[in-house]
Amino acid sequence: MLNLFAQSLTSPDKTAIIDPEGSYSYRQLQAESDKIAAILLGKKSDLAEARVAFMVSPGFDYVKIQWAIWKAGGIAVPLCITYPLPSLAYVIEDTQTKIIIAGPEYVEILQAYAEEKNIRFLTFEEIDSASSGKELPRIDGQRGAMILYTSGTTNLPKGVLTTHNIIESQVSTLINAWQWSPEDHTICLLPLHHVHGIINVVSSALWAGATLQFLHPFDAKQVFDTFLEGKVNVFMAVPTIYFKLISEFESCIEEEQQQLRDCMAKFRLMVSGSAALPVSVMEKWKGISGHYLLERYGMTEIGMAISNPYEGERRAGYIGQPLPGVQARLVDEKNQTIEIGQPGEIQIKGPSVFKEYWGKPEATAKSFTQDGWFRTGDVAVIEDGYYRILGRDSIDIIKSGGYKISALEIEEILRKHPAVNDCGVVGIPDEEWGELVSAALILKESTDPKEINQWLRAQMPAYKTPRKYIVLDELPRNAMGKVVKNDLKKLF
Ligand code: ATP
Ligand code: MG
Repeated sequence: MLNLFAQSLTSPDKTAIIDPEGSYSYRQLQAESDKIAAILLGKKSDLAEARVAFMVSPGFDYVKIQWAIWKAGGIAVPLCITYPLPSLAYVIEDTQTKIIIAGPEYVEILQAYAEEKNIRFLTFEEIDSASSGKELPRIDGQRGAMILYTSGTTNLPKGVLTTHNIIESQVSTLINAWQWSPEDHTICLLPLHHVHGIINVVSSALWAGATLQFLHPFDAKQVFDTFLEGKVNVFMAVPTIYFKLISEFESCIEEEQQQLRDCMAKFRLMVSGSAALPVSVMEKWKGISGHYLLERYGMTEIGMAISNPYEGERRAGYIGQPLPGVQARLVDEKNQTIEIGQPGEIQIKGPSVFKEYWGKPEATAKSFTQDGWFRTGDVAVIEDGYYRILGRDSIDIIKSGGYKISALEIEEILRKHPAVNDCGVVGIPDEEWGELVSAALILKESTDPKEINQWLRAQMPAYKTPRKYIVLDELPRNAMGKVVKNDLKKLF
């Protein structure tokens, strides 16, 4: 993966990063990360896969520290900047972190803890006083590079270990498939402790020699103001962000709307992922921006695996086809390949698949079949050559009265009701039925769920329609905007 650094040497004076503090060239990124790598190394010649956790706001400082850890031979453990101490301690202890680096805003939360646990603690003052000149180790691609935690949507987050080679494969797959180039300018508004932000946006942009602009924290108006400056041409976000941008757009006066339309029409690419993109959001966004969002499917464990085409038809409600270099198959409970058109679990093989769950050999062993396929736990069906996600086997596939019902399909239909703004469907344990299909509704206007149910009965078979409804102000979501369905279940 250290190719990442080599690539950026080809045009060192080009702007690599823009953040609220300033703009920085690739040369600066190289020089600063070299200096910090030297500090991390101290008297050692190689960190030899020691875990280095860092809590730093998105921006130049974040990237230079991450590169420094890689250059010094450590394993980077990015910490979520909104976590309270117990959640941070879970990650730090789980990874047996040896060094913690904290940005100025986070010294208070981490310093006493690090001292108590005897973990080396570095502040920005120490990092900034560094001088360069130390020889850096040669890093073999098979070595561990990063531990990212899964989003914790279904369970406690698991640490996912990737090597330099695996990251290289994840990044180069996307650069080729989505045609990243040095002419690109993208903005990053996603958290940097998950694949979407750190691989798809940050690493892909920098590896391609493009310009990466950080906007943080997310503010819909600021995003549009940045669009209007006319430099951004690539944009990636999660469905909830598109949802918020649509409502911001709708609140703009006509003249502003027209300016935004004109400027978004010049974009090269707009991508959505991390959670199912509602068809209604895709259609509204097309109306606003002129772009069919490119929806793709991936996981912390596999990087991006299935994607709608860059050139060619992008289908609403579908995630597309396996990316080049990725092997995918759909199987039944016995791991037998199923007939096309039948639902099955997505299994993935290829050089982008992670090495192991950190410190969890049993979980790692269980997540692979005997012949080396990774079990995603996501159920899909192939229709007309395109994969369509039905949901997570553990939670979105509701087992009721002998049927297997996709929560995602019901949600997609419910969102078409004029009074429904958003919704989440879950299975609630029931003695008679196994699980009862149940829906939480976020309404645009006060409406009796009975009316909605009646409308739904005309749209789908009776056994799929929800038996229970609740009305909420908002759905419980995690940092990636994913609905946390275990929390939602508790609300019934
Ligand atoms: P945890 O594993 O801790 O429960 P998580 O699975 O949400 O959390 P991630 O690795 O961040 O953690 O997310 C991967 C999951 O996100 C996939 O398994 C899939 O369920 C979902 N996902 C990603 N992209 C899409 C998409 N385009 N449509 C539907 N679901 C998606
Ligand atoms: Mg998962």
